[in-house]
Amino acid sequence: MQLYQNQQLRIYNSLSGKKEIFKPLNEGHIGMYVCGPTVYSNVHLGNCRTFMSFDMIFRYFKHLGYKVRYVRNITDAGHLVDDAEDGEDKIAKKARLEQLEPMEVVQRYTVDFHNILQKFNFLPPSIEPTATGHIIEQIEIIKDILEKGYAYEKNGSVYFDVVKFNETNEYGKLSGRKLEDMIANTRELAAQDEKKSPQDFALWKKAEPEHIMRWPSPWGDGFPGWHLECTAMSTKYLGETFDIHGGGMDLKFPHHECEIAQAEASNGHSPVRYWMHANMLTMNGKKMAKSTGNNILPGEIFTGDNKILSKAFSPSAVRFFMMQAHYTSILDLSNDALLASEKGYNRLMEAIDSLSNLEAGKSSDFDIASWQQECYEAMNDDFNTPILIAKLFDAVKHINLIKEGKENITSEDKSNLKSILDGFVFDVLGLESKTNVGSDSDKLSGVVELLIQLRKDARENKDFATSDKIRDQLAEMGIQLKDGKEGTTFSVS
Ligand SMILES: [Zn+2]
Repeated sequence: MQLYQNQQLRIYNSLSGKKEIFKPLNEGHIGMYVCGPTVYSNVHLGNCRTFMSFDMIFRYFKHLGYKVRYVRNITDAGHLVDDAEDGEDKIAKKARLEQLEPMEVVQRYTVDFHNILQKFNFLPPSIEPTATGHIIEQIEIIKDILEKGYAYEKNGSVYFDVVKFNETNEYGKLSGRKLEDMIANTRELAAQDEKKSPQDFALWKKAEPEHIMRWPSPWGDGFPGWHLECTAMSTKYLGETFDIHGGGMDLKFPHHECEIAQAEASNGHSPVRYWMHANMLTMNGKKMAKSTGNNILPGEIFTGDNKILSKAFSPSAVRFFMMQAHYTSILDLSNDALLASEKGYNRLMEAIDSLSNLEAGKSSDFDIASWQQECYEAMNDDFNTPILIAKLFDAVKHINLIKEGKENITSEDKSNLKSILDGFVFDVLGLESKTNVGSDSDKLSGVVELLIQLRKDARENKDFATSDKIRDQLAEMGIQLKDGKEGTTFSVS
């Protein structure tokens, strides 16, 4: 018997606007697709939050005993700068500016993405397909949509006919928009525009001669529209209908709306049973944006190297901070919020660490079974991690009372409590134990401090060759020494 058989999960479905009882298409199996990053710059923390929410969801499904196929794509072509059809490809633009091959840009930022996710202790998805690896599949879908009459070709580009689609289907149902209102609120088409209606979107774009990312197609050389890759890859790996499609709130429109339209036009039915959207991360009460400087990279939190921070924070403390908010709520990041979360994370870890040293008694003052079910109920209610964390602190309170000799626990309950806490804290929330994380970084600090001392000795002996060698070789390893009034400090990049 698997856990999911007696835990009834409810999920907020963005399509219906309601919490619904979750029932996968095939019992015991779940197909989940999440829109991945466009790899043309370092992954920002807001994106990390979205992916972390789905990592937690993936983890909980696995914890319940489901077999999950989790597909999270890498967008390495076709995502235009301004989401309008006349924009430049984000990756091609970056490649042009930095004089790199587009695939060098893709490689660099895919590696960065994976490094950051690994630091945050993410589980890898089951499949991580790329847009450029699925051009043939995308061309096949375009042919199919053209054949069914929901698209048209113009000068080597192919556009989805939204007005035609809306005659038989409902364009805008996910984001709660009506096509008539959209049309009323948009500017007139420019005379040179190839589209029949401003709402139409590109399935295939003709590549101008200077465009470096291009593939042959029945309509000439070009590249696929961004929305199409997700339809192609989700259908290929999860089928025409699958259980869960997730992404950031900002992708609801137009991206996910277009995915629905493409799939319905091609397959004749709705692709997704539960649409899930994760909310955004703000910083000091404002939207994060590179342009305003109200922005932080994950790496800057781990080193403390950002003006809003008073210190560095470990990936687990940041993960704990993110898990303290429900995935559908806006979460605000600030130095104070991180300090408070770090404190909470430390208290939780200290309680778990002290558990094995508790003295067992003849009876228990803590009803573990009902507490455990309350933890499950929190998670079953649309993955309510803040409530789960509050429940975990109920256990912390009891552990501390037992430590002080004010309460008792039997040895059987003690080992139950340990395995339940391990399950929720490490498997579901994906936190890492401080002793695990700490030991390596403590050793590293010790070694670097020793080298700083040796460098100081060398300088006092006027042996500058040795002191420079220590500094330069550490820099090569990504460890920067900074000389200041209070002595030498270091940061790891
Ligand atoms: Zn997508």
